[in-house]
Formats: sequence, structure tokens, C-alpha cells
Amino acid sequence: MRILLVEDDVGIASSLREGLERHGFEVTHTASGRAAIGEAAAFDLVLLDLGLPDIDGKEVCREIRGSSEVPIIVTTARGDEIDRVVLLELGADDYMVKPFGFRELVARIGAVTRRYSRKASDRAVLRIGRLHIDLDARRVHVGDDEVELTPKEFDLLAMLAERPGAVRTREDIIDEVWDVNWFGPTKTLDVHVSSLRRKLGHAEWISTVRGVGYRLESCE
Ligand code: CA
Repeated sequence: MRILLVEDDVGIASSLREGLERHGFEVTHTASGRAAIGEAAAFDLVLLDLGLPDIDGKEVCREIRGSSEVPIIVTTARGDEIDRVVLLELGADDYMVKPFGFRELVARIGAVTRRYSRKASDRAVLRIGRLHIDLDARRVHVGDDEVELTPKEFDLLAMLAERPGAVRTREDIIDEVWDVNWFGPTKTLDVHVSSLRRKLGHAEWISTVRGVGYRLESCE
């Protein structure tokens, strides 16, 4: 598995590289956010430092996510103000505060990539009423009209659509679509649901089950 390590601190970069290589990962290192944006799509995972000299790491995250679905784990220095909601909105899959333990990093890499490969193996089209979801191409249509969704909106809709009519709890959605390691991102889930309702043009297709979670209706 090929990891793009984006880190401007030479000491941190070399110890991360050494540790990752010891765990069998292939590591390419860059200190430049601009280079990372250009190269990210060629890798299996990006480990991205938020504090970079050339561009704000959040912008790097947003740019990479705009053109690629490569998993991104953000790293940040202890004490930096970190807004988890913003990171999720930018498309990061997880984040870690430095200094972090190596075992934890390897576990997070495993969790993030497992989520992605599970998605890749679901080669199917879901049809629920007028809603068509191509899980393979990651495209969504309402009737004949294509709906443009962000990666997280797509994952959220795909999860609800796996079992139409069934309530998916907030906890399950957050664990599946985001990460079990995210704490308190409940507002983000609501933001994504309301934007999904707006984009589908049928707010009633996604029901809120108060105090529990959400349910996809029959989409007629
Ligand atoms: Ca830095």
C-alpha cells in the first residue's frame, strides 16, 4: 500500500517514514501542500499535516477531495485549534493529534482503508422508487436527473438505501460513514442530511426518527 506523507517537519517525517516502512507500507514524502494536491490521486492513502509552509492544510484537504476519493488522515500539532466538523466537511476521513502512538496510527490506517475497500467491493445498483444509486460508479439519479453529491453525502445515502424503510441509528451512521474515532460530530450528520434532502429535491424521502436516527422512505 502506497502512502503519501505530507509533512514539513523533517524529524517527524523521517520517524513516520521509518515506522510506516517497517510496517510494510511504501512511503513517498513531500513537505509541499501544492505537490500533495497534484500527486494524491496516485496513492492509496494520504497522511496530511495541517500546518504546512506553502498552503493551509485544510485547503490541501479540500483540493484533494475535490478531485479524488483517496482516503485522507489529517495530522495536527497538539494545541492547534481543530474543528472536527470543518475537517469532515473538507472530506478528511480521520485525524490524529501529534504526538501519536504508532500502533494507533497503523490501526487508523487499517480502519480507513477497510471502509474504502468494502465500498469498492459493493458492485451494485440500488433502485428505490425514483432513486437510483450506482454504488460502483458512485452516481445518483432521481428519475432521469443526475444529482451531484459530495463523497460523504453519497456514503450516507448509500447506507440509508441499503435497507430502505429501516431506521439507521445516528451512532451506526457516524461509525459507518465517518469513523468510530470521531467524537461529537452529530451536528455534521444533521448538516449532511439536510443538504442531501435539498439536493434530492424530496425532503420527505429521508425521515427523521426523533432521538434515534434516520430512515429512507419509498422515494416515489
Ligand atoms: Ca507542520
